Amino acid sequence: MLAGLDPDQRTAVTAPAGPVCILAGAGTGKTRAVTHRIAYRTMSGEISPRHVLAVTFTARAAAEMRARLGALGAGGVQARTFHAAALRQVRYFAPRLLDGRRMPELMESKARMVGLAAAKAGVRTDRAAARDLAGEIEWAKSSLVEPGEYAVAAAKALREPPYEPARVAEVFAAYEQLKRRQGVIDFEDLLRAAVWGIEEHQDVADQIRAQYRHFVVDEYQDVNPLQQRLLDAWLGGRDDLTVVGDASQTIYSFTGATSAYLIDFPRQRRGAVVVRLVRDYRSTPQVVGLANAVIRQARGTEAKLRLELVGQRPSGPEPELKIFPDEHSEAVAVARRCRELIAAGTPASEIAVLFRTNAQSETYEEALADAEVPYVVRGAERFFERAEVRQAMVALRAAVRSIPGETPLVEAVVEALAATGWNRQQPPPGGAAREQWEALAALVALAEEYAASPEILPIGEAGRVQRDISLAAFNDELIRRAEQQHAPTVSGVTLASLHSAKGLEWDAVFLAGLADGTLPTTYAKTAEQLEEERRLLYVGVTRARQLLWLSYGQSRAPGGRTRRPCRFLPQLTKGGATESRTVEPGRKPDRRRPQVSLCRICGATLLAGADRKLGRCPTCPSDLDEDLHERLQVWRAVTAAELKVPAYVVFTDA
Ligand code: ATP
Ligand code: MG
Repeated sequence: MLAGLDPDQRTAVTAPAGPVCILAGAGTGKTRAVTHRIAYRTMSGEISPRHVLAVTFTARAAAEMRARLGALGAGGVQARTFHAAALRQVRYFAPRLLDGRRMPELMESKARMVGLAAAKAGVRTDRAAARDLAGEIEWAKSSLVEPGEYAVAAAKALREPPYEPARVAEVFAAYEQLKRRQGVIDFEDLLRAAVWGIEEHQDVADQIRAQYRHFVVDEYQDVNPLQQRLLDAWLGGRDDLTVVGDASQTIYSFTGATSAYLIDFPRQRRGAVVVRLVRDYRSTPQVVGLANAVIRQARGTEAKLRLELVGQRPSGPEPELKIFPDEHSEAVAVARRCRELIAAGTPASEIAVLFRTNAQSETYEEALADAEVPYVVRGAERFFERAEVRQAMVALRAAVRSIPGETPLVEAVVEALAATGWNRQQPPPGGAAREQWEALAALVALAEEYAASPEILPIGEAGRVQRDISLAAFNDELIRRAEQQHAPTVSGVTLASLHSAKGLEWDAVFLAGLADGTLPTTYAKTAEQLEEERRLLYVGVTRARQLLWLSYGQSRAPGGRTRRPCRFLPQLTKGGATESRTVEPGRKPDRRRPQVSLCRICGATLLAGADRKLGRCPTCPSDLDEDLHERLQVWRAVTAAELKVPAYVVFTDA
């Protein structure tokens, strides 16, 4: 267990029960140290895996932790996001605490309710303003700021709200009232409910604290005051807590996250073992050199804490900065390079294309599909983003009240969807209508699977309880799935936002769209916001093990207005990235060639022309209509071997 660790990591792993703080840069083995610490303690018999709670911030990072723990033989340990841990706790205790009253439903997003609240408060909004207001409310609630305290707190935190602070506070208050009246809660309320359960109910506190005795928080630099309060409630004055973080990777401060808890940890927790790691085991010295060049620009506290990373891996290729005439030719070149790498033996799953905003994904999806490179879109998966799926989820939640709570689940789901006009018996013949019908059919299939699986969840010391297969529980399951849909289903090039790439690593990383206005985003105005954009770049650079390609297109569209390069790039060229310009514009996509997408049902890669839109592969044809089935000639892909992924080629007679 200790063999693959350096002396500093070993100190962290073998430290006795009590507070431990690992403060270190990217790629220095923080997650490795913390997962080894859990495995070391459970396998030596010092602690029981069921008494450990490991938390982090993104579903993906939690999955990564579970995978690493599993590989170390500590698979039984719970590794979850704060929200997932809170949801589990609240659902378990709700029947007891609510005296039989219905548990409020969890809203997927604030936007609609904020829009209503703004109208009520007499504030005119459009979608962008509603989004900004929702952001302010999220920040305030995560920072434990009540509506009445908003104006003062926002000024102190140098927020730049979209309206007068007093107006924002009014919308905030109206929003809270509306939610209460409609019996719904948002994600912050979920964390608050978990805190309330423990702080106000001794029996709940006793039960939770008997269950969880050893705590671990990865990526602790991104904790917000509300999450910290929940962590404190779980701890209940005990101190067997290991935290791990890197102040240079704080990238969620717009939502209230703060590295202050990490920085103050050694002072706040008496007797804390503090470990600093500087050896970088992830990246080549060339990439590490670039990462150092990015953090060297840090100001304030981050600058004081900064440690120069020391690369441990063998030398590799120089990182390259590529400048293209426009975004399209940039995407085409990136896709072409991915294809070359795969042909030369790099597995597609070891390549990532990272960008600042999810909207950039589309261009790369198209370019990769065009180059016949399989890819996986991480972060927001499309299924749960589809308008009809979101509307269906709203309808399902409303149905909890209108359909008797004794109607069997699948029947209830079909009935609720029927109320929206969906007809199970009559799939439309084709086109967009058919696609929408299929999406809702997939929801019914999920309900069938959910109701049929006899899974029993272990919960608490209280023992095991039968899974709740009510419509309300299924709705929670859908939200959980929407949140955690990133489980890799197929091997392909990863397309992901910088925010969702945190904690992960790939052999080859492309940082695309490095133009001012994209990174840093135009929304970043204050010095602190710009610092956060720079930290995002640092997170991106440090994802690469071996090969790093930075790029941007000078204009959005061919012949468009020329944009300035990302303002942080000079540091990177000074730090060793070699720069080159491409004048040749990229080839226009050839729409006749097959495109790649993933089967919505089983995740296999689909190569299809016009029928790519069908979104499901020939192994899942159970309810494909027969006519369509006949028209499809199906080959087990000859190209599957070449692509090294399970693939099916679907040709149409066109
Ligand atoms: P991040 O800040 O990006 O989350 P991290 O500090 O958590 O990074 P890890 O992901 O734990 O870093 O480790 C980075 C890589 O280095 C991983 O591939 C890990 O297996 C490897 N690694 C860590 N420590 C060692 C070591 N002592 N010897 C060899 N490889 C190591
Ligand atoms: Mg990590």
